[in-house]
Amino acid sequence: MIPFNKPHITGRELEFISDAVDCGHISGNGKYTKLCQQLVEQQWGFHKCLLTTSCTDALEMAAILLDIKPGDEVIIPSFTFVSTALAFVRQGAKIVFADSRFDHPGIDEAAIEKLITKKTRAIVVVHYAGVATDMKLLMEIANRHQIPVVEDAAQAIDSYFINGDSKQALGSFGVLSAFSFHETKNIQSGEGGMLVINDPKLVKRAEIIWEKGTNRAEFFRGEVNKYGWVDTGSSFLPADTIAAFLYAQLLDFKNIQLKRIELWNNYQRLFESWDSDRVKLPLIPDYATNNGHMFYVLLESYDLRQKLIQHLKANDVLAVFHYLPLHASPYYMDKHDGRKLPNASYFADNLLRLPLFYELSFEQQQYIFSLISAFIKRN
Ligand SMILES: *Cc1c(COP(=O)(O)O)cnc(C)c1O
Repeated sequence: MIPFNKPHITGRELEFISDAVDCGHISGNGKYTKLCQQLVEQQWGFHKCLLTTSCTDALEMAAILLDIKPGDEVIIPSFTFVSTALAFVRQGAKIVFADSRFDHPGIDEAAIEKLITKKTRAIVVVHYAGVATDMKLLMEIANRHQIPVVEDAAQAIDSYFINGDSKQALGSFGVLSAFSFHETKNIQSGEGGMLVINDPKLVKRAEIIWEKGTNRAEFFRGEVNKYGWVDTGSSFLPADTIAAFLYAQLLDFKNIQLKRIELWNNYQRLFESWDSDRVKLPLIPDYATNNGHMFYVLLESYDLRQKLIQHLKANDVLAVFHYLPLHASPYYMDKHDGRKLPNASYFADNLLRLPLFYELSFEQQQYIFSLISAFIKRN
């Protein structure tokens, strides 16, 4: 069986976990948490990072930090994982769902402006498959309306927005950004996440929310002589053993990224050489880089995709679809304002994700490609 995903282990995870245990500090905000945060801040130019137990948690911190309240509106793409919306829904916000672009599953930047009202308190973008949203266009709209941007960068580690001769890491644009280190992501710790705080004014409060509403982080730095309950919050910190695992992955990130991009390019070459107009390939716009997070193809219809999934499964290959559009989900359907979001629905029905993980071999990729091309020719 070729699985859809197989978490990659770099080889140093247990060494660092063992060291964390020997250090005697295995709760949150220990040695490895600090090492991870520093490495990420330096590597990608983020102002401040805090490790969290998941990207879902990082997004919850973002919604709290932005003081989202009942009656506020938050613009979020419909074609995304539930966590993107969940944090804002829990704060009582009304979600105004945005459609995908016609040529890419990411948010339709140009359609955002007409969703903005006096009540809009945040715009959340998702860099789908690690491919940048057009951040120049998006930040121009958000800045003009003075609305904070949150990046759901769960899939976007080590990916960039290209602006002329320079490139800037995804996750460094929004006032706040959230990354995931779930085992399905490029760099992983089983479960794990990170909040990036790019607005210096939010750092102090972020640390308090992170530490159950207490100023404990300041206390341990010796900045205050006692600590107590000063704000809302929760327990958002991962154990330092998780951070130790993550540190091994982060030290090896260049190698992991090279390998995943190579696998992505292999798929691209195989499908391009076939040159079928019946299977569409992913678009990487000129302003975006590719971090090899996900390779998908677009089929002509929902039925064809479902039959292909069955066919692949019968031949020991697990390929998967994803995202039932959030605006049509059982939980939010009757709260949605009724607008049709045809592009989100199109990607939900037609997109198929192929296996992509570090240990996937080229022979396995060729096998997957030949199964798909032979099936499409017959159907
Ligand atoms: C994976 C993912 C999440 C959730 O990440 P967790 O770390 O599992 O909470 C959120 N948003 C997007 C776009 C994702 O791909």
